[in-house]
Amino acid sequence: MTVRIGITGAAGRMGRMLAEAIAGSDAPALLAAAIERPESTLLGADMGELLGGDASGVVISSDLAAVADQIDVLIDFTVPESTLAQAAICAAHGLPMVVGTTGFSDEQAQALATATAGMPFCQASNFAPGVNLTFKLAEAAAKALGNSADIEIVEAHHRHKIDAPSGTALSLGEVVAKALGRDLSQVAVFGREGRTGARDRDTIGFNTIRAGDIVGDHTIIFASEGERLEITHRASSRMAFAKGAVQAACWLVGQSVGRYDMQDVLADQESNS
Ligand code: NAD
Repeated sequence: MTVRIGITGAAGRMGRMLAEAIAGSDAPALLAAAIERPESTLLGADMGELLGGDASGVVISSDLAAVADQIDVLIDFTVPESTLAQAAICAAHGLPMVVGTTGFSDEQAQALATATAGMPFCQASNFAPGVNLTFKLAEAAAKALGNSADIEIVEAHHRHKIDAPSGTALSLGEVVAKALGRDLSQVAVFGREGRTGARDRDTIGFNTIRAGDIVGDHTIIFASEGERLEITHRASSRMAFAKGAVQAACWLVGQSVGRYDMQDVLADQESNS
C-alpha cells in the first residue's frame, strides 16, 4: 500500500526536506498534502516547483481538515501552537500523527498528550537514527560511570532556531537522569554566570550555542578525576531527520493506538531485519 503523507510546515526548512525525503523514499510513499500557516505567502505554490523541480500537483494550502481524508498520516514540524491545532484535527479524523516540533512548555506537552491519546502517535525530539543510538550510548555510559562523573551537555544549532536548549539536548538529559535515578527538573542547570560556587556532582549542565548555519551538534561529557568521556553526534544535513520522520510515518500507519517514539520505530525494524 502506498502511504499518503501530509506535511504541516511544508514550506519550512524541515518541510521542504521532508518533501524531498518522501520523493526519494525506498518505501511506497507519496506526498499527498502540504499545509502552511494561513498568512504564508506561499499558499497556492506547487511543492514540486518550490523545490526547483516540475509541478507535482500538490499545492500548499492552509486547511488540514479539508484534505484530512486524502492522507493516511500527518508529519508536523512547525511550532508548538500549530502542532496543538493540527493534533485536534488529526484526532477528529482518526489520523495518525508524527511530531518533530520541539519547544513545548510543560502545559503544551500535556495538552498534546491528551489530544493525541486516541490515535497512533509518534513524537521524537530527533528523528536521526544516529542520535537515537547516541541516547543508548549515553544511557550505557551513565550506568557504567554511575555517580563518579560530572555530566554536561553541549548543543549547537543555526541562528534561526527559536527554542533552547534543543529538544534533543533535553532528551539526552532525561535519558541519563533516568539511568541515574535523578529527576531532571531538580538537577538541570541551564548555563552559568557569575559567582556560581563549586559544582554539585548531581547536577546535569546544559550549554547552548546559536551560530551561523549549524544543522545540529550534540555532545554529552562525562568528566571525572583524570579522564573525560565525550559522545558527540553531528548532523551535516537535515535529510537525516527527514528520512527518519518519513520512516516513522510509514511505520506508524497500521500501528495500534498508542504513543511511540523513534526508538520504537528502530527497535521494531531491527527485530524484523
Ligand atoms: P522553520 O521555521 O523553517 O519551519 C516551520 C514552518 O512551520 C514554517 O514554514 C511556518 O510557516 C510553518 N507554520 C507555522 N505555523 C503553522 C501553522 N499554524 N500551520 C502550518 N504551518 C505552520 O523551522 P524548522 O527548522 O523546519 O523546524 C521546525 C520545528 O522542527 C522546530 O521546532 C525544530 O526544533 C524542529 N526540528 C525537529 C527535528 C527532529 O528530528 N525532531 C529536526 C529538526 C527540527
